[in-house]
Order: sequence, then C-alpha cells, then structure tokens
Amino acid sequence: MSAPNTQPSAPAPAPDVDVLIVGAGLNGLAMLHEARTHGLRVRIVEAAPEVGGTWYFNRYPGARTDSESWMYSYSFDRDLQQEWDWPERYPAQADMLRYLQHVADRFDMRRDISFNTQVEAAWFDENVHLWFVRTDQGETICCRFLVSAAGQLAKVVEPDFPGLESFRGDIVVTARWPEHDPDMWEKRVAVIGTGATGVQLIPVVAEMASKLTVFQRTANWVLPARNYTVSPAKMRRLKATYDELWRLARSTPSGMGVRRTERRYSDVTPEEAERIFEGAWEQGGLSMQLTTFADLVVDEKANEAVGSFIRRKIRAIVRDPRSAELLCPAPENLYGARRIPLGHHYYETFNRDNVELVDVSDNPITEMTPTGLRLADGSEHEVDVVIFALGFDAYTGAHSAMDIRGTDGQTLAQRWSQGAATFFSMAVDGFPNFFLLGGPHVPLGNALVAVEAGGRWVADLIEHTCRAGMTRVEVTSDAVALHGDRMDRNLQATLLRHGGKLGAWFLGANIPGKPVAPLLNYGGILDFKSGIDTEQEDGYPSFTFGRAASPVDVGA
Ligand SMILES: Cc1cc2nc3c(=O)[nH]c(=O)nc-3n(C[C@H](O)[C@H](O)[C@H](O)COP(=O)(O)OP(=O)(O)OC[C@H]3O[C@@H](n4cnc5c(N)ncnc54)[C@H](O)[C@@H]3O)c2cc1C
Repeated sequence: MSAPNTQPSAPAPAPDVDVLIVGAGLNGLAMLHEARTHGLRVRIVEAAPEVGGTWYFNRYPGARTDSESWMYSYSFDRDLQQEWDWPERYPAQADMLRYLQHVADRFDMRRDISFNTQVEAAWFDENVHLWFVRTDQGETICCRFLVSAAGQLAKVVEPDFPGLESFRGDIVVTARWPEHDPDMWEKRVAVIGTGATGVQLIPVVAEMASKLTVFQRTANWVLPARNYTVSPAKMRRLKATYDELWRLARSTPSGMGVRRTERRYSDVTPEEAERIFEGAWEQGGLSMQLTTFADLVVDEKANEAVGSFIRRKIRAIVRDPRSAELLCPAPENLYGARRIPLGHHYYETFNRDNVELVDVSDNPITEMTPTGLRLADGSEHEVDVVIFALGFDAYTGAHSAMDIRGTDGQTLAQRWSQGAATFFSMAVDGFPNFFLLGGPHVPLGNALVAVEAGGRWVADLIEHTCRAGMTRVEVTSDAVALHGDRMDRNLQATLLRHGGKLGAWFLGANIPGKPVAPLLNYGGILDFKSGIDTEQEDGYPSFTFGRAASPVDVGA
C-alpha cells in the first residue's frame, strides 16, 4: 500500500458501491442483508470460493457449534426461521455451511459477492471521503464505507516447529482442513492442542486411528455437550417460541436464549450446590454457566466449588489415574479463565486402549523428525499423521492482517499495537467511514446476537450519516478511550482477569508479543446492547460528522 491518503490520483471518482464488506461469514452476510435493507449499494469481497467463513474452513472431523443451533442462526427473517429445520442440538460444520449457503441463495446474495478475492490494502482519501480498496485481483474498488467482517477466529496460529519440513507423513492444520480427509484409518495420529478444537476432534480421530497420541500443554475444563437429534416435535415447539427465545437472548448477558440464574453460591448449602452442579452436568452444554450460580466466574469460593465438582467427574470417568490427573486443570487454572469447550465423550476417549495422553507442559515438543516428534527430554513419538489444533490470533488478527490505513497513515495493526482500541467493537478513531463486525471487544456470549445487532447498528449509522447530508463519520478518541476503560472494568469485575497468566486467547495471551488486554467485552450481550442502543438513541454523541467539499451522490 503506498497511495497517500490525502491526494487522490484522479478527480473524485464515483464510488463503485456505498458499502464494501470484507468477508462472507456470519457477520458479512448479515451486514449485506442490512445494507440492502437500508437501500445501500453493497458488495462483499471474500477470499474463499464460498460463503461461510468459520464454517467453510473448519471442516475437521467433529467440528460443530457450542451454541445451540436454534440460537446460532439468523432471526432477521421470520420465513427463514420457520422453513429451516435443525438436525441436531449442536449442528456439525457441514450443517452450518449448508445453512449459510441456503441463506446466501435464498436472499440472492451471491450476485453481490466477489469470491476468490482477497483484500490486501485500503486507504481513506480525506479530500473526497472515500475508501480505495485494493484486492489481489489487481482491482481497486472505491466505496463510501468500508466494513471489515474478516473474522473473529480466522487468522490461524501456524505450526513453526523446527524440522516441520522434514516430516514424511501428513500434516494438517484444523482450520484449513482439506476437502478430503487425510487417510487416518489404522494410522498413528498425533493431535497437538487440546483447546476447543482439539476437544471436538480427539474423540472422532480416536475412532479411526490405530493409535492416537494427544499432546496436552494445558488441561481445560471440558463440559459434556450432550448433543441430541432434534425431533420434529421439538423443532415445531422451537419454531413456535422463536420470538420468545430471541427476546430472552437479547436480554441476557450470554445471548443464549436461556434465562440466567440470579442465585449465588453462598445462597445454598454445599449439598444443595452439589445437586445443582449434578443437574447441570446431566443437562450438558452451557447449563453449568447459565443455570447453576451467577457468580461462578466472580466469586472465588463458587469457582473453587465448580472446579472441584468437575475434577471429581474427571477422576470418576477416566480409569487410568495418571491420565485423570493430567486431565484435571491445575488449581491456578480457574474455571472460565480460558474458553470452556464442550466435549462429546471427551474424557471417556482417554479410556480407549489406542489413546495416549502426553503431558508437554514441562517437556515441550522441540522438533519434528522425518518420522514424528521429539520432546525436550529426547523421547520420540513415531506417527504417520500430525494434526495441529493450535488456535487463532483471535479478534484482531484477520482485521489487522490487511493493510488498512486511517487518516494519519497508521495501519490498524499499528493503532492496536498497545492493545485493541474500539468503540463497542465496531469503530476506531482515526479510521473514518470504517466499521468492524466481529472485531475486538465483541461481547462474550452467543455470537449471533452481536452479529445481528452490530450489522443493524452500523447500517443505521451509515443511513443517519447519509440522511444528514454528511459524507464522513468518525468516532472520537475520547469515546474510544472511555470504552477501553469500560472493557478493563468489565474484565476486572470477573476472575477471568487471571486468564493472561494462563495463555487465554480471550486476552491475546496465546500469541507471543500480542498485548495482553481484553479482546472481548466481559459485560456480555447486555452491556454491548445497552451501550450501542444508548449511543443511537442519544443521536451518536461519540461520533463527529463532516461533509466533503464536492460530495459524491449519497446512496441511502
Ligand atoms: C470451530 C469453531 C466453532 C465455533 N462455534 C461457535 C459457537 O458455537 N458459538 C459462537 O458464538 N461462536 C462460535 N465460533 C466463533 C465464530 O468464529 C463466530 O461465531 C462466527 O462464525 C464469526 O463470523 P465472522 O463472519 O465474524 O467471521 P468468519 O466466519 O471467520 O468469516 C470471515 C471471512 O472473511 C474472509 N476474509 C478474511 N480476510 C479477508 C481478506 N483480506 N479479504 C477477503 N476476505 C477475507 C474469510 O475468508 C472468511 O470467510 C466458533 C468458531 C470456530 C472456529
């Protein structure tokens, strides 16, 4: 990127579109819909050959949602909701992709999507208040507003072990899983990484491999998902109650459509607490967080109690005492300080004869050899296939990978070098007419509520700008600074503040050199919704508006 941001190379061109969106995942498609609904000319540029984002790329065996299907789908169109039947409580990747393809086709979205096209750079021209966006296809697209929906978990942590090239077997990265599975039948397979992805993958690979070796650095709190097939009767009941479920989802911190308990751990006896934990364990999914006690990640005693309950479950399930102890999170690994994965017979998998758990917390993998992996103590593990499930450069990674330059020539990556700075995850000072969806500071909870509310909010603000005859909108630095304080306060109010020591990707602590700072809004959906609703009701006091000397035609 080299174009200066104050000197257009030619007289003000007519913009190609009002809104250019980067990415055709859940956020990009929702934004496309909102932009059209607001009468804006819109186009998506998508690097992949298909819609879906997360659900296009993460096709590893066992990939599925942790949110319940009926709450992890769009609510913006009643007919869409009513005509779609979910097969399972937690849809598998293929079902999620099929759903998003259906949405794209049903709303004729593909005509406004350029596939196989990557945005490389973008710069803002202060003279005409237009963005110029360069793609890897050699095109420069001119737009009035630029929206990055480049992904929350889209920039993959790459394996960089010495000797990687020398390995003679197959290497696969979960978030770039090939269309056809590598041959794992009766092979010796290694899985490196036991975060949410590894937890989903491991039980499925164990069924195929002759021997599965799991390399674990940190044990996670894995809750049983208790997936089930959604019966026609259940689906019918869900369809009849969608409005109520969504009303609940928008008014609870988790955005899950489940009424959150207000009960505190200190309200009950230890025996009663045990009964409550047991009920949630049986119900599965996120019941432990949502229905047991409101202070699990706030009160240390409550946190210890849930931790001790889960450790007892692990020891009861896993027969080999050594493996059971390795799978029990350490005392300093507070419940909830890292993302809590849902397991599908995860702990039970370690009772299989063909599964071995290797602790690499103090004895890390030092290199790959032609035939496998070598650990610090010199021990070698011979394998045929290595699967890397190393996680993501979350929330900032995909957005700042593009060379997007604001008014003073600063890139997003530079703006965020001391930690992510946003206004409710959607706007950044110094980047006028630019919005993020799925950026840092999205609320912790079910993504879909923020996806829909965010897309609508951005489209409303663009419409507001255009209707006022303005051509430039930018959030103030003061508002971004105040919002940063709010994100810190929300984090400090919970025990999740200890996540940095544990390498939590929620805080950027999994990426060497990344500032350890909140990447999520720990106030959840309620804090996010109340913040953006107030801003809108008050007429956008946190934004400044301007008009170019010779403004171009306004689309809205
Ligand atoms: C396995 C897995 C399971 C998950 N389960 C849940 C769940 O149950 N509940 C939940 O709330 N969240 C879940 N998430 C989080 C999930 O990422 C979000 O819910 C959601 O899918 C994010 O949508 P998005 O549109 O922001 O990003 P993505 O789906 O990542 O889409 C971003 C798109 O942008 C494109 N792109 C990026 N950079 C460029 C560029 N420079 N040029 C052109 N195109 C570009 C990418 O190719 C991609 O298609 C899960 C994530 C993973 C990985």
